[in-house]
Amino acid sequence: MAQMFPGKFAYFEGAYVPIEEAKISIMTHAFNYGTGLFEGIRGYYSKKKKAILIFRLKEHIDRLVRNCRILCMEIPETPENIENICIDLVKKSGFQEGVYIRPIIYKSELSLGPLLKGIESKLCCYVIKLGDYCDITSGLDVCVSSWRRLADNAIPSRVKATGSYINSALAASEAKQAGFSEAIFLNENGMVVEGSAMNIFLVHQGELITPPRSETILVGITRNTVIELVKKELGLNVIERPIARTELYVADEIFFCGTGAQVAPVRSVDRRIIGNGQPGPITKKLQEIYFQVVQGENEKYSNWCTVVPCE
Ligand code: PMP
Repeated sequence: MAQMFPGKFAYFEGAYVPIEEAKISIMTHAFNYGTGLFEGIRGYYSKKKKAILIFRLKEHIDRLVRNCRILCMEIPETPENIENICIDLVKKSGFQEGVYIRPIIYKSELSLGPLLKGIESKLCCYVIKLGDYCDITSGLDVCVSSWRRLADNAIPSRVKATGSYINSALAASEAKQAGFSEAIFLNENGMVVEGSAMNIFLVHQGELITPPRSETILVGITRNTVIELVKKELGLNVIERPIARTELYVADEIFFCGTGAQVAPVRSVDRRIIGNGQPGPITKKLQEIYFQVVQGENEKYSNWCTVVPCE
């Protein structure tokens, strides 16, 4: 498991405190019932700009705040405040390399019973160093999971809730124990939805296909980025529609995308080689564009990067 290298400070109970002091009680609602909502946001270090560029900060905070409605959460911080807290923590970390920012809104009361309404919530946030989360060069060997993705009317996948990552952990652990790098989830109807912590795209005869947002997926910020880049930069269309399991086996290319995964090619699914077993041309081109954009090297998308100068 990846080791964590945190910054010295965290945001906790309304203040910046040393990371070792940011601790919750074992009676906390979120710890007992999984009632936390979180984001994972990357910052890329640019040597040229001597700055960390936080990628699509606004969009991440917007998703976090919107999803609060589903879990009946209210916090004193405004979206602008939360963005500033993320920026401050990156500054305070002093890191001059890739970072990962983790704001969490959690039910902070020490109260018994799995209720949502009327339980107080708080915001906390920390920053860690982060390089690649999974291989993005040679292609991943993945399997279809025997675990099904959570249904929207059970635990909504659209919500990045702490408790729902049990579903991801079951699938990812099963895959790793069986010698694969990742898992692909099917939904209750047997259709492809996403990876354990990433969205999925396939390329079939020049068309890009990904499950629609009405499916049981987390509507990824990277997914939205990829859709826009594919249309604007590659001039290709992205079709959002349900995908059957066997469409995976006959695809020309498959890739995952996510804040952690970035753009990660898939080499095989259930031991069936995808394409010629190498990252395909569309995936490679997209990776190239993606990394230019996140490094702030494509002016057209500079509004997606929040520049935090490194002192
Ligand atoms: N699906 C799941 C289940 C995830 O955990 C993630 C990672 N946040 C994603 C998709 C990708 O989302 P994003 O691009 O917003 O990181």
